[in-house]
Amino acid sequence: AYLKHKDTVEPQIRAFLSDTREEALQTAAAVDAKIKAGKPVSELAGIPAAIKDNICIRGQQATCASRMLENFKAPYHATVIEKLAAQDYISLGKTNMDEFAMGSSTENSAFQVTHNPRHTDYVPGGSSGGSAAAVGAGECVWALGSDTGGSIRQPAAYCGVVGMKPTYGLVSRYGLIAYASSLDQIGPLTQDVTDCAIVLNAIAGYDEKDSTSIKREHNDYKTALVRDVKGMKIGIPDEFFGDGLSDGCRQALTEAIETYKSLGAEIVHVKMPHMKYGLAAYYIIAPAEASSNLARYDGVGFGLRVPGKNIVDMYEKTRSAGFGPEVRRRILLGTYVLSAGYYDAYYLRAMKVRTLVKRDYEEALRQCDVLLTPTAPGTAFKIGEHTADPLAMYLGDVCTVTLNLAGLPGISLPCGYQDGLPVGMQLIGKALAEETLLRVAYTFE
Ligand code: GLN
Repeated sequence: AYLKHKDTVEPQIRAFLSDTREEALQTAAAVDAKIKAGKPVSELAGIPAAIKDNICIRGQQATCASRMLENFKAPYHATVIEKLAAQDYISLGKTNMDEFAMGSSTENSAFQVTHNPRHTDYVPGGSSGGSAAAVGAGECVWALGSDTGGSIRQPAAYCGVVGMKPTYGLVSRYGLIAYASSLDQIGPLTQDVTDCAIVLNAIAGYDEKDSTSIKREHNDYKTALVRDVKGMKIGIPDEFFGDGLSDGCRQALTEAIETYKSLGAEIVHVKMPHMKYGLAAYYIIAPAEASSNLARYDGVGFGLRVPGKNIVDMYEKTRSAGFGPEVRRRILLGTYVLSAGYYDAYYLRAMKVRTLVKRDYEEALRQCDVLLTPTAPGTAFKIGEHTADPLAMYLGDVCTVTLNLAGLPGISLPCGYQDGLPVGMQLIGKALAEETLLRVAYTFE
């Protein structure tokens, strides 16, 4: 049924970069046989999913939507895929994204433009726009994305689905092709909060292959699905509700806050004075790490190679042909802020701001159980609207990036509409407080 529906809507949505229905049908048949033999199967067994194309599945493409990796096949499974495969999950294909996860609209893909399932003139958000659109269009039940500065939460908001960025270190990054390693996390995109808990159960947990993985057992996240927020404190950081917020988003969020009040939550206002520096710090730190991570695409180890007169010429030709404009911009920015003479003025300063942002969150979350903010200052924009203006595109990330700087978990869920397009509400919790987030989100849903 899902394949049939996918075949009908995919020509309009264009969420997928590959189609792995043959493997999917094989796994489905194996699950069917297990069930018929009376064997127990997991909750995810046989459920159609989709995987962002920067997560490695053995033997399959992992293009990161880049010409650089167009012909690359992953030689191993990411840890999350290893875990999901053990549960007989089914992937219908790899999903479109901004090249190397750099972007907020999925328009930076080297291969195709993905369309918003709620209105096809609009972007699905990004960089996990393919995953969000696939779930939003009902082409699959759930998907994996990655979030470095909002790439799960913002497309979830734009497509009217649920997206969670877990605490840094909760989900292994092994086999996730790096963008900015100190910020990257894999997480679920789902149709509702219950599915989010189920997928999180499957992918969370310590992994010795990821040195930043947290050594800690986790509970069954489904036990957090309790419809009760009585006596809980929900913090509103006024800094997220400034002039840049659209009227429709403000109205939907105000109504959501009223709903929580009527359900017995206490609303408290908190101050986060350093938030205004967060976006600038992110756009120094993320490109700095990216410039280092992407140095590996040199035409030697793997991926594209364009022959040259000598090795330097080969590097230049390969990197010029392999990387799109946004990736090149970030490599240049990152190289600049890390270079001798500028390091102290930019990178070091941004790292100091990162500490201040972290402290703001610690202080704010001492006063409440969760923070409630918009996921983005507006709803999805038209395809092509911001492509000529990278700064306008960056400014749209203002509500999501600071969370990654602090390593905290966040969830985006739909909370209303503005002119027919979904509005996203973001809930932010303390480190490893995914259960609190799920509970507060579930109560609203
Ligand atoms: N839009 C942000 C960026 O372009 C975040 C991307 C992401 O989370 N991968 O860097």
